[in-house]
Amino acid sequence: MIMDVPTSVEFHTAGLNQLYLAWEIAMRTVREFDGAMEASAGEESAPPEYWQRVQPALANAFSLIQQGMELALKGRIADVSPFLLVGRDPRDWPRGVDSGDVSFGEFHTLNASDLVKVHNSVITPRFDEPFKDFWEQVRQDRNRIMLSTSRPSFEAGDVVRTILTAIEALYHDMPWPQRLLAFEGDGKFTVFGFVDDVRNNVMREVDDAQKLLTTAEKKRFFGIDSKRHAYVCPKCYYDANRDWQDDWPRLAQLVTKTPGETGLRCIVCATTTTVDRDDCSYARCPGNVLFEDLCLTCMRSQCDNLDVPSALVDNCLGPEHRYEFVFGQGSQAWGGDYISRQHRLLDDDRAKDYAALALANPHLARWETVSIFHKQTGVFPLRSADDRAVGYWLRDGGHLHWYGSASAYQPERDGPV
Ligand SMILES: [Zn+2]
Ligand SMILES: [Zn+2]
Repeated sequence: MIMDVPTSVEFHTAGLNQLYLAWEIAMRTVREFDGAMEASAGEESAPPEYWQRVQPALANAFSLIQQGMELALKGRIADVSPFLLVGRDPRDWPRGVDSGDVSFGEFHTLNASDLVKVHNSVITPRFDEPFKDFWEQVRQDRNRIMLSTSRPSFEAGDVVRTILTAIEALYHDMPWPQRLLAFEGDGKFTVFGFVDDVRNNVMREVDDAQKLLTTAEKKRFFGIDSKRHAYVCPKCYYDANRDWQDDWPRLAQLVTKTPGETGLRCIVCATTTTVDRDDCSYARCPGNVLFEDLCLTCMRSQCDNLDVPSALVDNCLGPEHRYEFVFGQGSQAWGGDYISRQHRLLDDDRAKDYAALALANPHLARWETVSIFHKQTGVFPLRSADDRAVGYWLRDGGHLHWYGSASAYQPERDGPV
């Protein structure tokens, strides 16, 4: 009797594991490469030499892809009958299978080169010519790597592209980013109250991978439209560990090109989030996709609570009483964050008092300066070169210093606000 006959699901799972291992190898080489480039910042490092050094690892990855594909093909055939996989000639079968128990693993199974032929003979839809060519290419490359001393030179991008093509053909029941989340056990530890970095890692891997692809491949494998803006997915952001990461991959795009579109779909978690379409409050940020208090372009809070209730403000006053308050933070040499609010007040003295009052508010403690402009009429809502700088307050420890007729915020240097 033939014992331990594997199921289609077992082949499928084993094949996926091989592809995941190949993926991990490719991603590790990319990370190490990026790390080496950062370490040698400014210097002309030698990427070709680096890729030469990692050839054995990438060759190994290629071999894993070939095995992963072979297992997927065998799994599909086993779904019809696992016995199609053992040689058709009983003279090749292990000795004693008719008189005792012999494990399936001891059988010589179909050659990799025959798998597509057998598959297409018993299963529809058949694999098409492009797939046959791809499979043939992977097998040939793998054999060349294994048998030849003059190995073809692979880069991580070749491995990533081959993995994604194999997945598209053989493991398309779940998109690869979500499969990665499942592999890495996203959320596994959070139920126990621990923070884990799974989401951070998968976001980074998908981002690293898509950067290695062409525009057409980005679209084909991940659905990324390179001609359109991409944003940080708020769900991934809040599911990630935010203790150490400042720079977030932008892997979500609006679902249509319609102006005002509010559906934002993420390729990592496959969630469509409803966003707000308002301009980011910060100078120099072109973003207009917000989620609650967060700009999904610059990832800064909008600080909507800038407004400080005060009897000094009287919005019933005429347009000649318009003042603009530009709150600023950060070293001016490096530029800084600026955010602006307009109110109507009786005169300069009231505006100056109001700005000081605002800075004294605990929830505005992070702002270091407030520049006050008296708005000129007839140019609303644009800033006018004729706006008069009333002066600015500078926070210095617990004290406020007043600089009359000047402005901490410089539109030419700091950009629009
Ligand atoms: Zn997401
Ligand atoms: Zn922004």
